Amino acid sequence: MVLRVLPCLLLALLSASANATPITTVPEAAIRQAIALRDQALKDEKAYAVLESLTTEIGPRLAGGVNDQKARDWAVAKFRALGYDKVWTEPVTFPKWVRRSESAALTAPYAQQLAVTALGYSPATPKGGITAPLVLFDSLDALKAAKSEDVKNKIVFVSTRMHAHQDGHEYGTGSRIRSRGPAIAAQLGAAAFVLRSAGTDSQRLPHTGMTQWEPEGRRIPAAAVSNPDADLMEAALRRGQPVLMKLQLDCGLEGDYTGANVIAEIRGSEKPDEIVILGGHLDSWDLGTGAIDDGAGVAISMAAGALIGDLPQPPRRTIRVVAFANEEAGLHGGKAYAAAHKHEVAQHVLGAEADMGGDRIWRLNASVKPEALPAIDAMMQVLAPLGVSRGSERANGGPDLSPMHAEGMAALSLSNDATRYFDYHHTADDTLDKIDPQQLAQVVAVYVSWAYMAAAADGDFGSAPGMFKTAGEN
Ligand SMILES: [Zn+2]
Repeated sequence: MVLRVLPCLLLALLSASANATPITTVPEAAIRQAIALRDQALKDEKAYAVLESLTTEIGPRLAGGVNDQKARDWAVAKFRALGYDKVWTEPVTFPKWVRRSESAALTAPYAQQLAVTALGYSPATPKGGITAPLVLFDSLDALKAAKSEDVKNKIVFVSTRMHAHQDGHEYGTGSRIRSRGPAIAAQLGAAAFVLRSAGTDSQRLPHTGMTQWEPEGRRIPAAAVSNPDADLMEAALRRGQPVLMKLQLDCGLEGDYTGANVIAEIRGSEKPDEIVILGGHLDSWDLGTGAIDDGAGVAISMAAGALIGDLPQPPRRTIRVVAFANEEAGLHGGKAYAAAHKHEVAQHVLGAEADMGGDRIWRLNASVKPEALPAIDAMMQVLAPLGVSRGSERANGGPDLSPMHAEGMAALSLSNDATRYFDYHHTADDTLDKIDPQQLAQVVAVYVSWAYMAAAADGDFGSAPGMFKTAGEN
């Protein structure tokens, strides 16, 4: 009796476990619809029009600055004009940093003006500026290994040249020098910190960006010089005499500010509580008009959602688009979103933020459960003709959705061609003319295709609390 029951039990258990992990697929009709949306997006000019509107009517969008509220009002109105069903905001609070003025020069042995910009969260110099000898390091590791007596009361200058690549991988090194270098120099007793801009251009335009401090640690004025000015400083230092630099920054913290994530939805017809999420960040640095970083991402995701919303039949699942607040100074919008929505991580079926400019997408990485890979294959079928190739399983959904991925949301990372992105990134040259409308349309075609298919898929992508523990890459 017992012997006869056991095989039956075993079979029942096996079929139960098979039912618990069904294969995720995309119905044929949905693939055909995605192809039609893809081809329509390639001819559509909505994203460019949205970006032209944002950069012309609002312009620079430093988080907490004069344009913060204006940009949110613009986003609410734009979502409504594009036909989204529901638009709302969720508050995001962060320390407000302001930039007033900045200048720098070499004063000895040669007098030369330098193109400089303060880093986000830098304190001001004393009135009249700081004049001190420069001490050069060629890497963050070299600075870490420095002795305090070699650095004390000097201006630390870290100079690592960044080269252009399709995947932009050298930005990791450059941004680490910018974010970590000032705190390390401060701890060693430096008077101030400057770095060679984390950028691949040879324009006389410095690249700003945020820096990070230890909560109770010492803070020193921190800035970036343009690449040609870094060359000049190195040449002066090669002559072996002390080189004096004068740095004058008027900037700093001004209490807390409450902005907001602006969120909009195209409601799903069959499973409205299941969400496919995309977005970009609405804030930008203040030097340019934030066209590539990240007006492009806002425009791409708004346009992709609107194309789906314009279909005669609503999508099965809800398409949610988020224009995130203050990504630049510490991922504040993305963290606030995850804090407010982590309890519904399982309903966030799949997500990706667009935050690497408007040039064409060349790779798709997917961090999903293994049973959902057939649905990713179906997406690739639609995306391959656009020149997109399948990458790895390392994905985090982009900066502002990485906190949701860390909570367990399945995510894609879509790589834009970053070859020229870091020429303009975080500079005064981040303006609309750097956007190629045809490449921008390709990116919208990619986003509308995957988002529509994720909303139409039979089965899920594995989102569940604690599902994706390993850190992905963007
Ligand atoms: Zn960005």
